[in-house]
Amino acid sequence: MAGHKTHFAAGVATAALLAGTTSIVGGIPHAQQPLLLACGMAAGLAPDLDSDTSKPLAILKSIVGVLVVGAVVADSVRRGLPMPEIAARSGLAMGLIALMFVIFTRLTVHRGIMHSVPFVALWALLTMQITYSLGRNLTLAAGLVALMAGLSHLLLDELWAIDFQSGLIPRLKSTFGTAFKFWSSSFVATTACYAGLAALLWMHFYRS
Ligand SMILES: [Zn+2]
Repeated sequence: MAGHKTHFAAGVATAALLAGTTSIVGGIPHAQQPLLLACGMAAGLAPDLDSDTSKPLAILKSIVGVLVVGAVVADSVRRGLPMPEIAARSGLAMGLIALMFVIFTRLTVHRGIMHSVPFVALWALLTMQITYSLGRNLTLAAGLVALMAGLSHLLLDELWAIDFQSGLIPRLKSTFGTAFKFWSSSFVATTACYAGLAALLWMHFYRS
């Protein structure tokens, strides 16, 4: 399995290449290119969110925790609540976040549906939905960057599953074929992924 640093570098490289290309072809201003890089980084790491011990999942937990608890504290202060109540509300928020991630890790399986082409496409469409208000060209560029960065993750995982004995003879590891795939062994997860993909496709074309 390629490490998160390799996936991070591949995501950034893919995004940088496409950001440069789209700025020339699609007229994306330089000021918006950091956003494309961020989309590439996120998409390049997203498939490994299915690993309970992965760095991307730990980073996501931290980001969600800081944002949600920060919002709860800010809201409590704005309402003028007493300190014990602010502490109780923050504790409750942290507990709910922890529960949410426990459920997430129970539902996901490493190298399950999140390591698949339809999931990468779903993530790219989700990226397009999030950036939709920023203009058609940027939305398309963000979707393309996310798609290519996600596919680079799957391809790197497959490449890392090939060993070269004596430096020459290729030998396939047991993980070969578990990243660049179109379905997982779970019928429910595969159906849910394709249903989400269809819903996002419909939303995108309905809004366009
Ligand atoms: Zn992976």
